[in-house]
Amino acid sequence: MSKTLIPLSAPTLRGRELRYLTDAVRSTWVSSAGPYVSRFEKALVRRQRGGHAVAVASGTAALHIGLLLAGVKPGDLVLVPDLTFVATANTVVYCGARPVLVDVEPVTGTLDVTLVKDFFEKECENKNGALIHRGSNRRVSAVVPVHVLGHPVDMDPLLSVARRFGVAVVEDACEALGALYKGKPVGLLGDVAAFSFNGNKVITTGGGGMVLTANEKWAVRARYLTTQAKDDPSEYIHNEVGYNYRMSGLQAAVGCAQMEQLPLFLKKKAAIHKRYATAFASHPRLTLMPALEWARSTFWLSTVRLKDAAPHEGARLVDALKARGIEARRLWRPMHLLPMHAQDIFWGKGVSSRLYDEAVSLPSSAGLMESDQQKVIRAVRDHLSQ
Ligand SMILES: *Cc1c(COP(=O)(O)O)cnc(C)c1O
Repeated sequence: MSKTLIPLSAPTLRGRELRYLTDAVRSTWVSSAGPYVSRFEKALVRRQRGGHAVAVASGTAALHIGLLLAGVKPGDLVLVPDLTFVATANTVVYCGARPVLVDVEPVTGTLDVTLVKDFFEKECENKNGALIHRGSNRRVSAVVPVHVLGHPVDMDPLLSVARRFGVAVVEDACEALGALYKGKPVGLLGDVAAFSFNGNKVITTGGGGMVLTANEKWAVRARYLTTQAKDDPSEYIHNEVGYNYRMSGLQAAVGCAQMEQLPLFLKKKAAIHKRYATAFASHPRLTLMPALEWARSTFWLSTVRLKDAAPHEGARLVDALKARGIEARRLWRPMHLLPMHAQDIFWGKGVSSRLYDEAVSLPSSAGLMESDQQKVIRAVRDHLSQ
């Protein structure tokens, strides 16, 4: 097996990363108290055109805090898409709640809003102002739309259903920094949102995340919960169980430099997507997962679908590309197939499993060279013509 020459999604660190990092080290403000943390938070707020941002250690931490802010309590149910990165479902469990795994719609792979409505209408009832799932007698407290691969969920119908049933909306925008829904940035459409700056995301801080909310009180509470719930820091007074979830100044310094390059990264990723789309447009078996007309996707990972794929055919394509030094990846194994979520309610109709068989993400780094992308395109075509 040859070593990977063309990565799936590698960071591009060609801006002022070193300069800001050196500055943070020289200033000795390396922890979460440093000026870069608030600078990074402000940069994100400016980019998202509002809200209050709290920088945290990871996207997973941001999701956990978002769910807590939304009022998710032990014993509750929270609706999450069946097709997502596992952290979306796991953070529900961190809160002592259980996920309801809802299927996705076939074109974008994002949460199927009609199924959310179905679940509320057919399986739940209102009791004393709370939405209760009849089968389990559990309260349904939140729904988590995941902007999968950077493509926004159809938020208007979702928000209207969630409001009608009194359920909070926590956006998982971990792959979607820079995405627009009907011209509006994702992240402030619901009640609170989580972003990720893991190494393979649209921008990176090495590892990190952000909580974003329009609710100022929630932002204050997010800051409190993520810094060990200090009621009197000098006296070690804590009245609640908090978390050590804050981002460090060193991470934020890198984040500030990355944020400056976000428009460039988005442009590059859109161009990569367009080249794949053009290359495979007339292919009998390949379609590229598209952006719908009301959406601007981040095109975090350009993803092809194999028409009428046999089970594991996607995996075989991944292996064939790997043998040629190209890193590709299937989408996530659907949550209902993972052992720790196999007992959770699955509100599905087979779309997530079909996408799991059919979809393969191709190299999409902002720094991907055009000549390398041509190699990927040739390798995909060659494999399918065998
Ligand atoms: C990456 C990701 C997360 C988790 O973010 P981390 O920073 O890796 O903790 C959560 N949800 C989705 C959809 C993601 O892609």
